[in-house]
Amino acid sequence: MTIVEGIVLKERPVGEQDKFIDVLTREKGIIELSVRGARKINGKSGSSTQLFAYSRFCYDKRGERLCLNSAEPLHIFYGLRNSLTALTLAGYFAEVLRFCVSERVDSGNVLRLLLNTLHFLENGKRSEQLLKSIFELRLMSDIGFMPDVLACRECGVFEPEKLHFSVREGYFLCDDCFDSAGGEGFITMELPVLSAVRHIVLADFERIFNFRLSEKSGDELAFFSELYLTTHLERNFKTLDFYHSLLSGQI
Ligand SMILES: [Zn+2]
Repeated sequence: MTIVEGIVLKERPVGEQDKFIDVLTREKGIIELSVRGARKINGKSGSSTQLFAYSRFCYDKRGERLCLNSAEPLHIFYGLRNSLTALTLAGYFAEVLRFCVSERVDSGNVLRLLLNTLHFLENGKRSEQLLKSIFELRLMSDIGFMPDVLACRECGVFEPEKLHFSVREGYFLCDDCFDSAGGEGFITMELPVLSAVRHIVLADFERIFNFRLSEKSGDELAFFSELYLTTHLERNFKTLDFYHSLLSGQI
């Protein structure tokens, strides 16, 4: 028997009453658990195995399959259901994690990032756009795609007022060096946005949610962080498309 703590990223019904759930755990990456009788009224697992439930799961290995014995809810994130955009963002985070977290990795940092982001998303005390940027950039750093944000790669200047960031290569040039070297695939950025990116990827975890940005800089950061993630993961996400269609009022 094994006991893990984790959050449900996806539910898949099987037959009349059973389901599979994908759970992001602290120690074992993402595992798939088979839940018997989950869809019966008063089924034994109830709310603790629903989408975005953070629970303590107790399971057995039977052949190739991991079968849930019992689950105890730790936090259910009910508040996400009060905002369609918040719920959609949570779905996007789950889709990204299911794509990029493999089994048997130490996923403690990634789980902590998700739980904290969902906490702020649920209580509504931070802008959803900013939470999305923090999640995207910190996740990419945690899984091995940390951008080089220290200084201009050519001249080493630390705080250029204006700079040019190569999203694919993950470094930047100050305006002067960019004028002489040039190049394709750079996006222009101003210092407040660079400072925000630095904070997100370098600060101690306890502090990463503690900063503010102007609306304009927040928009620029959002553009950069999403492009950075989709460029390095080399794909788009259905939930992200849906999020944008919600924002633009097409739905
Ligand atoms: Zn320079």
